[in-house]
Amino acid sequence: MTHEKEENFVWDLKMLRKLLTLKMNMPKVIVTDRDMSLMKAVGNIFPESYAMNCYFHVQANFKQRFILDCKYPLGKKDGKEVKPRDVVKKIMRAWKSMVELPTQELYANALVEFQDACSDFPLFLNYVMTTLKEVKEKIVRAWTDHVLHLGCRTTKRVESAHALVKKYLDNSVGDLGTCWEKIHDMLVLQFTAIQTTFGQSVTVLEHRFKDVTLYSGLGGHVSRYALDNIALEESRCRETLCMDKEICGCVQRTSYGLSCACEIATKILEEKPILLDEIHHHWHRLRMGEESNVDGFSVEDELKSIQERLKKLPFQMKLEVKEVLRQLTFPETTMMSPPPRKVPTKGAKKKVDIVSSKGKITSTSRIPSSWEVVDS
Ligand SMILES: [Zn+2]
Repeated sequence: MTHEKEENFVWDLKMLRKLLTLKMNMPKVIVTDRDMSLMKAVGNIFPESYAMNCYFHVQANFKQRFILDCKYPLGKKDGKEVKPRDVVKKIMRAWKSMVELPTQELYANALVEFQDACSDFPLFLNYVMTTLKEVKEKIVRAWTDHVLHLGCRTTKRVESAHALVKKYLDNSVGDLGTCWEKIHDMLVLQFTAIQTTFGQSVTVLEHRFKDVTLYSGLGGHVSRYALDNIALEESRCRETLCMDKEICGCVQRTSYGLSCACEIATKILEEKPILLDEIHHHWHRLRMGEESNVDGFSVEDELKSIQERLKKLPFQMKLEVKEVLRQLTFPETTMMSPPPRKVPTKGAKKKVDIVSSKGKITSTSRIPSSWEVVDS
């Protein structure tokens, strides 16, 4: 962009919105640094998206301000020497625990502790309180955990992309042709790297997920990052097997669109797999290019044709087709019926006394043939 002015941001965002042809691709969340003109433009062009701020930027600003404002005269407090490094550590610890807390009640308590930690530096505290009033809903977990941000709470991705372009361009002078070529080379490499990670997610399934009912519907269909996140929640849920939503917090569901600990606990208890439909479509996307138009998507013709063809098939083949369809639609079920009652498997089998039992045999052993009775 020529200038980082609101009108430039508006034009850019309008063009971006045009590129997002599918409604399902509209961003649920937009993360920016605290550039007021950009934040205003985002609010106008993407009013349905939740505006978040990069907490890393806000934190860096605080730290910078803190180093300027928070100094004890002559490095002493109540006559005792205080190392500036220790003061920074104490306040930054209070800050970090405050922004990472999951509920508004815990945040309120942590805020009091933070104010207490900064009580010797009223100027700095005033700055933080004014800023927090404006940005707390955009950076603090107690609010952002309720938004589907899919793991994006910072602008780190954009920053690293920017740094990479600079690395490829070498310097700030160069004609259009040279810059075009260098950026093209960079994009080709990036494209290949992304394709490789997609390929790995489709073809490689880690040993820990193989032959495990919980993951049986996901292998090769969702990204490895998503599987890792589910595995983390699974280990959290295995500690308690708790199905209480309040204790779980369900952050993985609300913020990442993945199964959270309480959902996984239910699945484990019922011995059912996680279904693909229960994972946000963002994690299924393992190929490049535009998805087909969802609005016009239908399988009605295919289903009708399957039914027509089924009528003409011999009965055995009908059963086989039905089994394939069942595996597709209800992967957690089986065609086999459960036994009417539990068959005792422990203990030695009792000998059947055919004479004394007189037909009241309750054992699972077969009735001996007449020649066996004679021989014994
Ligand atoms: Zn949950």
